[in-house]
Amino acid sequence: MLLGCIADDFTGATDLANTLVKGGMTAVQVIGVPTGPLPEADVVIVALKSRTSPVAQAVAESLAAAEALLAGGARQLFFKYCSTFDSTDAGNIGPVADALVKRLGCGFALANPAFPTNGRTVFQGHLFVGGALLNESGMEKHPLTPMTDANLVRVLSRQTEGSVGLVNFATVEQGAQAIKRAMGQLKEGGRRYAIVDAVTDQHLMAIGEAAADHALITGGSGVAMGLPANFRAKGLLPERGDSAAALPPMQGRAAVLAGSCSRATLAQIGFARDHMPTLELDVLATPDVAALVAQATAWLDATLGESGPVLVAASATPEKVAALQARLGRDAAGALVEETLAAIAAHMVTLGVKRLVVAGGETSGAVVTQLGVAALRIGPEIAPGVPWTFAEPVGMHLALKSGNFGDRDFFLRAFEHV
Ligand code: ADP
Repeated sequence: MLLGCIADDFTGATDLANTLVKGGMTAVQVIGVPTGPLPEADVVIVALKSRTSPVAQAVAESLAAAEALLAGGARQLFFKYCSTFDSTDAGNIGPVADALVKRLGCGFALANPAFPTNGRTVFQGHLFVGGALLNESGMEKHPLTPMTDANLVRVLSRQTEGSVGLVNFATVEQGAQAIKRAMGQLKEGGRRYAIVDAVTDQHLMAIGEAAADHALITGGSGVAMGLPANFRAKGLLPERGDSAAALPPMQGRAAVLAGSCSRATLAQIGFARDHMPTLELDVLATPDVAALVAQATAWLDATLGESGPVLVAASATPEKVAALQARLGRDAAGALVEETLAAIAAHMVTLGVKRLVVAGGETSGAVVTQLGVAALRIGPEIAPGVPWTFAEPVGMHLALKSGNFGDRDFFLRAFEHV
């Protein structure tokens, strides 16, 4: 193993793995803190579900993952969080990064969630989603991690015991050496973190190069783009070409399960209505797991055929989500929907579904846990940030889509790739 990664949610882990596989590294995503020997791969990514768990638990799991990766020979650690920096002020990015910096004794790490291909850019420390500031992008209404401040220096400062500096656009434009110098100066000046601006993939490549000798990198999947070249330059990574993304072939029924309420997913559901059999569960009208699961299983028994994919969605508009949360509380509302969708996924598998797309990070976590998936070998990319994977030991193809990823026709297009 060359690179050991800790991801705070499942789709984020897959997104990171996808980036590294495209860079010619083989990658396996392990679900939860590994207990046995690690799989053979250039990159092992431990996928946690720690984005919204209590701080102490997120820190403990992340440290345990780090120990396993270091014991497996990882030469560099990567702490992966969302490209929209999902975490409230009580959130986990700062505390987990603090614990990893301390464990590694490195004193400093960069922080960069940018993913230009998907419209996430950082300029003067401010995170943009498309043309909008983070806090005006829809993310301010996220069911679990509403983001109301786009200034990442401020956001991270509120979460960490250390202090946070900025490597700004003008420096990043000058390339790897300038970035490296600026990070060195911030570290010497006592900063524990640097938010590093990035607007293009070239910026991310330069940042990756500048961090070649860092013990820890924190960020979105974008900043990992530059890392394979570092390992190649050191003679540690052979040229693998496309073979890094090879998966066993798969026949069987196809389905989509959506629990994300993000704009992109809502648009994908709108498109799917006209193109595939679609069941939209009304969670607000029936906030009852057993009743919702019964409705979905009856529908699937009658609808799931051999021809094309079907879609089951619990997703709802921000107004409906807010209404359910007002009634049950935010966590209970999320948990109810996740439990429902996980049970539906299990039923899909008993009906012979072998190719499944799941929309939503938390939702994917719940589904993968329910299906008893231990590891995902990363295959070819469907859309930026979303690869097909081979789930072990279940033996099926899974695509875990972060809520805001993918074009309108993603649910249909996904199945053209396998
Ligand atoms: P994303 O990747 O878009 O953030 P997630 O699955 O991570 O999607 O988060 C969406 C959350 O919203 C999940 O906890 C899910 O259970 C919850 N959710 C889905 N549908 C509804 C609904 N109709 N009402 C309330 N919460 C919902």
